[in-house]
Amino acid sequence: MPGSGGAGRRVSDTLRNPLAVAALLAGTLVLGTALLGPVIWGEAAETNDFTSLDQPASAAHPFGTDKLGRDILARVLVAARLSIGLAVAATAIGMVLGVLVGAVASMSGRRLRRFLAMMIGIAVAFPGLLLALFFAVIFGVGPRGAVLALGFAMAPGFARLTQTLAASVTSQDYVSAARALGVSRVRILVRHVLPNLAEPLIVNGTVAAGSALLAFAGLSYLGLGVQPPAYDWGRMLSEGLNSIYTNPSAALGPALAIVVSGLAFNFAGEFAAQTVGGRARVHRKVPAHVPADAGPRLSTSSDDAPGTVLSVRDLTVRIPTADGLIRPVRGVDLDLAPGEAVGVLGESGSGKSLTALAISRLTHDPVRVDAQRLTFDGMDLRGRLGATERTRLGTSLSMVFQDPMSSLNPTMRAGDQLAEVATEHQGSSWRDARARAVERLRAVRMSAAERRSRQLPHELSGGMRQRVMIAMGLMGDPRLIIADEPTTALDVTVQQQVLEVIQSTRERTGAALLLISHDISVVSSICDRVLVMYAGRVVEDLPVADLERARHPYTRALVEAVPTMQTPRDERLSSIPGRPPDPAALPTGCPFAPRCPRADTTCTIEPPLVRYAAGSGAVACHHPVEETS
Ligand code: SF4
Repeated sequence: MPGSGGAGRRVSDTLRNPLAVAALLAGTLVLGTALLGPVIWGEAAETNDFTSLDQPASAAHPFGTDKLGRDILARVLVAARLSIGLAVAATAIGMVLGVLVGAVASMSGRRLRRFLAMMIGIAVAFPGLLLALFFAVIFGVGPRGAVLALGFAMAPGFARLTQTLAASVTSQDYVSAARALGVSRVRILVRHVLPNLAEPLIVNGTVAAGSALLAFAGLSYLGLGVQPPAYDWGRMLSEGLNSIYTNPSAALGPALAIVVSGLAFNFAGEFAAQTVGGRARVHRKVPAHVPADAGPRLSTSSDDAPGTVLSVRDLTVRIPTADGLIRPVRGVDLDLAPGEAVGVLGESGSGKSLTALAISRLTHDPVRVDAQRLTFDGMDLRGRLGATERTRLGTSLSMVFQDPMSSLNPTMRAGDQLAEVATEHQGSSWRDARARAVERLRAVRMSAAERRSRQLPHELSGGMRQRVMIAMGLMGDPRLIIADEPTTALDVTVQQQVLEVIQSTRERTGAALLLISHDISVVSSICDRVLVMYAGRVVEDLPVADLERARHPYTRALVEAVPTMQTPRDERLSSIPGRPPDPAALPTGCPFAPRCPRADTTCTIEPPLVRYAAGSGAVACHHPVEETS
């Protein structure tokens, strides 16, 4: 828990940092002058003295006097408020406009996103000052027009920054999880995306304010900004340069003020960047996905298979790459009965995670998903869903991702993330939703649930974060839990606890479970049936109890690679030679052939998945392994 000791350490760390000290001093000087300048030096700045017109620098007037005998130093100090105020206002306009356009561009559909990205690109390509001059002509001469012109000219830069940052945030698991829960785009933007962009945007905004100060001085210098009798540093610079040969210090005063203020903003920006950079969060990206509304396209029968909660036929995922179209998932069939637990097993790159993402509509452009059937709980998940269906999907399909840290929004308290599901879908009041969140945390055996619900994800352990993810699925009425490598990032003890929580959750809710894993022991400890995937296809489908008697050479090799309590300690563990094929260069015929000891010439034709003659499994192999017992 951060305490006063932590705060004291932060203060002393800050004071040891030269950049922080410079930012603090310059910032205090500039802001103090802007606030107090007109109060302290206002009268001196306005007093005409016809006995000392256009005087050079002297002890009484360090920067001389102007044409009416007014003290230039006093006028420079008074002009600080207007100069800085206008620069900050222009920056604020640029930021708000840019963030708005960039956020819309990052969250909108493919066509609008491309159009906005193109427009932003064109606007960014123009030099900022040229753009400001263009807008100044439109908005008219004067401080208001200049502020608007500068704000509009700065907006494309912020839009590009927001778009880029948002792209990295929207690919995080917690945004996918929010999508899976059916949270609306606007809410995802406001609650999950924008809070995570705040820090870099503020850093860039601070630096941009320094540039705006210079640009505003330029506009005033050109006569497009502040108009007499008002004055800012740009206007004073313009007047000072008119008398550069008689009184050079008249231009030096405002020029120095611009430089010092610009430096103050830049110091502050650099210090903020250093601070933010020091505690930058690292997030894992999930595999590429396709947009939620870019659903599969085939229009064959969508009837729900009787007695199933999930029914998938001929699921195929296509991804265009520089080397052509690849198909990392090819013709997957899958039926899940209510309450059934099915494991999907395979090495990395076998297509198992992408299958789960395609089923839950969490893939993104440019990935394409096709299926002859993709029904969940009576809903056809191909194509666009209505609001009611999205709500049903959000409350009845629960996703648990591999990395619980990246699955949760780092800026939201655990309990608030859970409560969001209830307020979004069940119309609960915030108070009721929070109470339900705590109750659900208790249901997944979270110790001190009330206190944990008020903590941020980084304050929880890996196992606790995974419990939060599971509890999030429990906020609705889950009919299916899809868990993608839910225990991979956890140590062995916590792994077991999380598996027990998933199992008890399944038993309590009667939900079906689709468990993605590369670990046979995880799958066999919790599942009834297992699908083994290789090179994007299901190559064997069998009850977990029959794993030891698997028919496919690949499944056999996976089973034999797992050590048991009987495995002699000095015996070398078996492994599968070679590597899984690259989806961009699949071999002709059976893709396992280059690694298979049973391969022969018949294997140059890819075998279909066929039911065993006896037993309750199916295998895709020309020479399946015979039963050994
Ligand atoms: S089809 Fe041939 S290459 Fe493929 S797994 Fe069976 S035996 Fe091996």
